[in-house]
Amino acid sequence: MKLSRRKMLYGAAGAVSGTALGSLLVLKRRTPQHVVLVVMDAFRADRLGLRRGGQSITPNLDRIAGGGRLFVNAMSACSSTKPSVASIMTGACPAYHGVMDPERTLPRNAFTLPEMLKAGGFRCHCIQTNVWLAAERAVIVIPHIGFNQGFDTYEDLSAPPAKNGISAYADAAEVVARADEVLSTASERVFLYVHFMETHQPWMGAGPREETGLYADEKIAPNTRYGEDAQLVARAGETGAEVSEAEHRRLVQIYDEAVRYLDRQIGRLAQVIDRRLGLDRTLVVITSDHGEELGERGWYGHGRTLYSEVTRVPLVMSGPGSAPGVEQRCVSNAWLYETLRRMLSPGGRKMPTAALADERPSRVIAQHRCFPPRQRKQWGKLVRDGFSLVTVKDENGRLVMSESYNLNDDPSEVSPLQASEQDIEALARVTRDYASLARKHGLSAEYTTSFWQMHMNDGREKTQDAPKVDSRLQDQLRALGYLH
Ligand SMILES: [Zn+2]
Repeated sequence: MKLSRRKMLYGAAGAVSGTALGSLLVLKRRTPQHVVLVVMDAFRADRLGLRRGGQSITPNLDRIAGGGRLFVNAMSACSSTKPSVASIMTGACPAYHGVMDPERTLPRNAFTLPEMLKAGGFRCHCIQTNVWLAAERAVIVIPHIGFNQGFDTYEDLSAPPAKNGISAYADAAEVVARADEVLSTASERVFLYVHFMETHQPWMGAGPREETGLYADEKIAPNTRYGEDAQLVARAGETGAEVSEAEHRRLVQIYDEAVRYLDRQIGRLAQVIDRRLGLDRTLVVITSDHGEELGERGWYGHGRTLYSEVTRVPLVMSGPGSAPGVEQRCVSNAWLYETLRRMLSPGGRKMPTAALADERPSRVIAQHRCFPPRQRKQWGKLVRDGFSLVTVKDENGRLVMSESYNLNDDPSEVSPLQASEQDIEALARVTRDYASLARKHGLSAEYTTSFWQMHMNDGREKTQDAPKVDSRLQDQLRALGYLH
């Protein structure tokens, strides 16, 4: 495919894998008037429709998925928030957009999803709750500028007042209330991005335990119990922590209660969307930035590996433009960018082309770079033709691990097969290609701050004149599982 330089420059969409979900959707003719994209942080794909006590723990998500297109084999581009959301926002894989470390943020010359939609006449709003996506927190020296690129309004609820002694993220109920306000003045075409954190460690949300009845049979006061649970979640999140069988069961219960609570709020959000925009005119897309470990390989959390428990994500598209049904093929949620471009251009003004589409829907990749205090390893993952390849390189770029899995027989990726040289080379080639493409286009992630140098206990990197970090942020990052 021959492309002009301008298209190449803006062609982030193709750089992830070069495709869209469109060919899998059997698109209806109707073009959605509005789009709402919901990202549920650290939401495991296997929680969608999971039954406990004979009932689904996600009845509201089930209802939305049942009326729309459900992608049961969707993957995120990374197991950490920043790289993954950067991929959703640009359609590009991490090697292309370069947002691989906490210090990096979206390149200014990236053509983001809201920028693209804005060009099509949408007014773009964001309500987000994750500290890594804060538009600006100058007061604590983390100017994560970049993720607000293209949004008309960017509401950052990532620094809420402490509740139950913990300040981790705003409650989903508050996010829904804000969405209601934002949509009350909705314009002709609206794009709303909503980011929920309930399923991120410490798997809380103010009050869900009490509301969902987790403590119903317990004599201990909810607040006391709450603190104990938070401590358990924090301890389980540490690499190498010992977790007993009883504690594991409790951890799963806490996570599932967070799922149940978030599902209820998603149900309320659907009502808000219907009242303010009309569900019949709104395409609702629901996904996650990554999954969550619940004891797999002895770990709890995310951002360590690229195995299926952290790369499989829910993906639902419901509303005009999507055809109901279940899609089995493996797709990346980073393909949403190109999919939305294709779906939304017919009705609106002509949008700038995000090209490079090469129509290889069977090839899905993910990349992850561990950051201190975890070992500096670079993970890569390639999925195609029912097989996955997972590789690890050390900090010198040396391949130290390569495993292959037959996803049909072993979707949890627990029985590694010998990885083929051909697949290893294919993944290395894809990464090289996208990195050189990014260089060619002058696309490089912005360096925002030496965040980890400031306050990680890493003598090698800590600098004498590093600015002091707000202790409240340190508490928050500890609650979220990033500091121990
Ligand atoms: Zn996340």
